[in-house]
Amino acid sequence: QFPFGRRLPCDIYWHGVSFHDNNIFSGQVNKFPGMMETVRKITLSRAMRIMQDLFPLEYNFYPRSWILPEELPLFVAEVRMMKDNNPSWKPTFIVKPDGGCQGDGIYLIKDPSDIRLTGSIQSRPAVVQEYICKPLLVDKLKFDIRLYVLLKSLEPLEIYIAKDGLSRFCTEPYQEPTLKNLHQVFMHLTNYSLNIHSGNFIHSDSVNTGSKRTFSSILCRLSSRGADVKKLWSDIISLVIKTIIALTPELKVYYQSDIPAGKPGPTCFQILGFDILLMKNLKPVLLEVNANPSMRIEHEQELSPGVFENVPSRVDEEVKVAVIRDTLRLVDPQKKKKKDTHAALLCLYKTNLNFAEYGDFCFSFITELSPWQGLSSEPLPSVLLCRRCQSWEQAPGASEELPDAAPGPEAALPSLCLKQVFPKYARQFSYLRLVDRVAALFIRFLGVKGTTKLGPTGFRTFIRNCKLSNSNFSMAAVDILYIDITRRWNSMGIDHRESGMCLQAFVEAFFCLAQKKYKSRPLHEQVALLIELCECRLAALQGERLLWGCG
Ligand code: ADP
Repeated sequence: QFPFGRRLPCDIYWHGVSFHDNNIFSGQVNKFPGMMETVRKITLSRAMRIMQDLFPLEYNFYPRSWILPEELPLFVAEVRMMKDNNPSWKPTFIVKPDGGCQGDGIYLIKDPSDIRLTGSIQSRPAVVQEYICKPLLVDKLKFDIRLYVLLKSLEPLEIYIAKDGLSRFCTEPYQEPTLKNLHQVFMHLTNYSLNIHSGNFIHSDSVNTGSKRTFSSILCRLSSRGADVKKLWSDIISLVIKTIIALTPELKVYYQSDIPAGKPGPTCFQILGFDILLMKNLKPVLLEVNANPSMRIEHEQELSPGVFENVPSRVDEEVKVAVIRDTLRLVDPQKKKKKDTHAALLCLYKTNLNFAEYGDFCFSFITELSPWQGLSSEPLPSVLLCRRCQSWEQAPGASEELPDAAPGPEAALPSLCLKQVFPKYARQFSYLRLVDRVAALFIRFLGVKGTTKLGPTGFRTFIRNCKLSNSNFSMAAVDILYIDITRRWNSMGIDHRESGMCLQAFVEAFFCLAQKKYKSRPLHEQVALLIELCECRLAALQGERLLWGCG
């Protein structure tokens, strides 16, 4: 609680909307700066497009999308070409206004010429996306999955996924889209906020029936039909990690602008809502990411005509309470303090002391606790006993998840519903983090703290310091490249707050340079080579400067 007039800082700030709800300078806050902007439909589509250009196979879980109005001619041309190549292809597309939510303004079309251009598309840009025509059905109904993901830290990247989520059902039996049924929202859109108005919506007290169920109940059903549920989970984890990898470069630019390195500021974490659709073949498809997923655990019930009452919703409660509880457990500042203490104790332990005093804590190292042995990868005890408060603590390096039967204060709580997936699986995905490294170069040359756009001088310094200009690529050509790309991005009218080159424009310029320098290789190789070259040259320059400093 933060009563009006309070001066003392808090450990954890729980904002309702965004990072900027309050001015804060310390502690932890449950929102990242720029998250809302980063997950908007258009920005997300752009970020996914960059990753699809680099790694088409790895990012095929995101439907092919175009941004309106700027890509309307491209959309028309690409669809015509695909239809010419495959005359039996009868696609459907879904048009979603940017910044919309709860199904607002969404409609389906069969042909690019059906886009409603009546004024609104200019004032309200949108994403048009390939419509997934063959979703997995349960009880003949289309449904989607809402999964909760905790982004615990950006640097280093730490991601947790909730073990259970929600499945939100349509309220009319599904049929593949035809001109006749395109307008039937209760058949095609799974939004709770829409379907609640259907006479067929079923509020159920059970988690495995009705119009909103737990995802685990669906998995049980699929598993009993013989589906490979383990593979499905691993595909979902991979989708989540890859999506966050696509979002982190932009988030880092916002982060350094609001919380400049070296200045006091809060650290951030955030619960995100991932909306995922399962295709008939069980392949998960990303629909969108929500920066402010609803955490309501009640629903409205009409007692008599026009008279409503809020009643608890068991399904929501089961999933959401666990997510918030465990987020707080993971970001608990007391736990963090203890973790730091453990790190110091680890040093003492390694010097062969069998107990140690450190600050407020006094620990005995217990080595013969059989059920917990083997949790730690090091030959160390997994559990430490604090002699002062007689509580059990997890040893550093042991798994984050305590066994169910853990003694001590954690024993009163259920085991964590949030499962760490990153850095746990970091090794499998680190090759995808190329744009992150491009963003690091971008941030390095931003110069003025608090900015998110690169000026012409910053761009020139980048080219000069990385020694990318030569007889084939003069500094005049560098300026032209900067002006061309920056002007085009700024004309799209996304962010008028500052002038200059935004991150996506820089990424485009960087890809251009990479293609120029390393012709006839796949794009991701070209980009990786140029990043390495830039990083190497900057490191050498830094070395030189240090030497000069010493000299
Ligand atoms: P909103 O933020 O308005 O909810 P979404 O992108 O989540 O927008 O889309 C709304 C609903 O439309 C989704 O819950 C899903 O049922 C359906 N939908 C969205 N995109 C697709 C798609 N590409 N293919 C099939 N169904 C989709």
